[in-house]
Amino acid sequence: MRILITGGAGFIGSHLAENCLKNGDEVYVIDDLSTGSMDNIRFLQKVPEYKDRFFVHINTILNNDLMLELTGICDVVYHLAAAVGVQTILEKPLESIVTNIQGTEKVLEMCNKFKKRVLIASTSEVYGKHMHAPLVETDNIIYGPSSKFRWSYAASKLMDEFTALAYHRTKHLKVVITRLFNTVGPRQTGAYGMVIPRFVEQALKNEPITVFGDGTQTRTFTYVKDAVTALIKLMGSNQATGEVFNVGGIEEISILDLAKRIIEMTGSSSTIELIPYEKAFGKDFEDMQRRVPGVGKLESVTGFSPDKSLSFILSEVIGYIKNK
Ligand code: UDP
Repeated sequence: MRILITGGAGFIGSHLAENCLKNGDEVYVIDDLSTGSMDNIRFLQKVPEYKDRFFVHINTILNNDLMLELTGICDVVYHLAAAVGVQTILEKPLESIVTNIQGTEKVLEMCNKFKKRVLIASTSEVYGKHMHAPLVETDNIIYGPSSKFRWSYAASKLMDEFTALAYHRTKHLKVVITRLFNTVGPRQTGAYGMVIPRFVEQALKNEPITVFGDGTQTRTFTYVKDAVTALIKLMGSNQATGEVFNVGGIEEISILDLAKRIIEMTGSSSTIELIPYEKAFGKDFEDMQRRVPGVGKLESVTGFSPDKSLSFILSEVIGYIKNK
């Protein structure tokens, strides 16, 4: 199969590209390297067996001609290109909204033109400020005021979901939407704020671990290879067409306990520093206190759900960052 991955040089996109290449697919990547990196895929370009079926375009998904060409060539499209990380959204609010909204519109327009099946990567951010668990796809959505720019990410991704669903309803385009919950693993960088690589890097340098707020907020982390398996299974399932799916891991943990766990696992002498949100992100920020996925829908359609323990995920990330 010929596969187009937008954002294929990113953290999740590169793991997806690797998996598809291993499966014997022909893989086309388009990435503007805004948060992606050639370091994530260079090793794949060096594999002799992949030489004639791995093609990388460093370009923007807003490039009409290139997107016409690539979407025309490929059988299916995974749309992963997006502004990622709370830090990026707060630092570059306008750019992030344009990338997320116009970029997805462009991808959907192209997929519709050639009637290509498309998977849209959305995010658990879409749920907003819930306290209950688990979050399921039919839950209401709760955001803070528009003065709190963090919610612009959630709102832009929610608009992507609506646009994709509208293409499905009105044009019968085959779309699948996935809400990814805190995906982590090797190749993820802490540069855009993501908590696990940041804490591991701090712990390995014996620097203070920067816990934002009081650390009682919780997250559930998903191992990147599990997330990729879920995406591929959903892409292959007719039953998934026109539907939204949570893709998330199994262990809820508070950020304070996460910091302690990483200190213990790395044998670090780091201390824990509690940093008020306002100091970390400025006044435009509000955190999500809790985020736990319900994955019943994913399981019922694919027979699969992420199952890697947090200890396994952390040991993989620690090993990766140590060797880097
Ligand atoms: N966080 C933290 N210290 C850091 C980076 C993040 O305490 O150095 C917290 C952040 O405030 C959030 C959680 O860790 O409550 C997860 O943050 P991340 O940016 O990885 O993902 P999010 O769930 O916010 O999208």
